[in-house]
Amino acid sequence: MKIENLPNEFEKARPVMQKIEDAGFEAYFVGGSVRDTILGLDIHDVDIATSAYPEEIKKIFKKTVDTGIEHGTVMVIHEKKGYEITTFRTESGYQDYRRPDKVEFVRSLAEDLKRRDFTINAFAMRENGDVTDLFDGLADLKNHLIRAVGNPNERFHEDALRMMRAVRFASKLDFDIESETLAAIKSNSALLEKIAVERIYTEFVKMMMAKRPKQGILDMISTDMYKYVPGFASHQSELEAIAKIDDLNLSDEVSVWSLLSFEFGLDRTEITSFLKSWKASNDIIKNTEICTKAVENLRDGSLDKWAMYETGKDLLVLANHIAKMYGFAESDEELVSQYDALPIKNKKEIAVNGGDLIRHGIVKPGPALGKILYAIETGIVNGEFQNEKAELIEAAKKIVKE
Ligand code: ATP
Ligand code: MG
Repeated sequence: MKIENLPNEFEKARPVMQKIEDAGFEAYFVGGSVRDTILGLDIHDVDIATSAYPEEIKKIFKKTVDTGIEHGTVMVIHEKKGYEITTFRTESGYQDYRRPDKVEFVRSLAEDLKRRDFTINAFAMRENGDVTDLFDGLADLKNHLIRAVGNPNERFHEDALRMMRAVRFASKLDFDIESETLAAIKSNSALLEKIAVERIYTEFVKMMMAKRPKQGILDMISTDMYKYVPGFASHQSELEAIAKIDDLNLSDEVSVWSLLSFEFGLDRTEITSFLKSWKASNDIIKNTEICTKAVENLRDGSLDKWAMYETGKDLLVLANHIAKMYGFAESDEELVSQYDALPIKNKKEIAVNGGDLIRHGIVKPGPALGKILYAIETGIVNGEFQNEKAELIEAAKKIVKE
């Protein structure tokens, strides 16, 4: 197969490829960008694989960066853009179901393609658009199938993360997992426990934010994979409920975790421990707690001014998106205009600060100060007093008396 009109990303990289070929080596575009181009999807980054060893690449190009030289990757800078160029390699001796004991650089393209996970991820394309397809990936693309390269059982034993990746690509592309590959996932699902949670996290979130997460969730259930990722095992029915929701359209990681937390019925501390077990960042944990709370407020009709203020605009919109799935959302415009009408959006906008209160002799530094400032903050947000210095000083005096 030859692709005639290469997307711009490839065109721009052609001189890089040609330089490698002029030096007597092979160079191919590989991985997702080739797959997505054949499917007519947009691409972002192009990956390049070569028969040249890293040291040889560094001799060919003036400007290079050692981004991952131990795995054979060197970045070449061409017209201000970086291109990751990886030497063909084989991997062998996977003893712990997750990483190869040995990575070996080789000169053969076929060897490199053999170690790749799925037939549709194992294309190689010359700079002129010629596609190499050693494992009938083109047929699988046409039939919308995710099929392991080689024996799926062995491939999942080498690296169990590939099972999650199968589900992720099925969701991204709206493909089905081919039956032998699916059966192998079923019989090996427990191996997921051997995989670093950070790697599962990346694939899971990508799956949830892709085109067809419903199917991804159902695949995780039917293969039992859900039992081997943190915090899912006791929530089969909730996961099934999420899979029944049409058009999840999750645009943000926080909405993925908030939807799960809401559906699982987790309280604040449970959300923290759930997300800690996924090794989520503190930021993600905090925002998920806030967003989930706002979804509950929307459900209970308790989203007052203070709750909106504490949630913030972005998370309000995310929460409302989740509320839509359950049929208790407000209109986005209405919600945003209510939020925009709040007198202040954060503490920094308050017209007095602790120093002012101390200078006016209203309060001494200490815990009482924090309490008064909080009372002022809630008072402003709830419209009890205007955000003006003189009025707030008077209000503070009253608060102290009370
Ligand atoms: P995306 O568009 O989502 O980035 P991708 O196919 O480029 O999709 P990557 O995770 O970026 O996916 O991986 C790039 C390529 O490296 C894959 O297409 C595949 O050939 C290979 N690959 C990545 N991870 C694995 C793995 N765990 N086992 C085997 N091959 C892998
Ligand atoms: Mg990629």
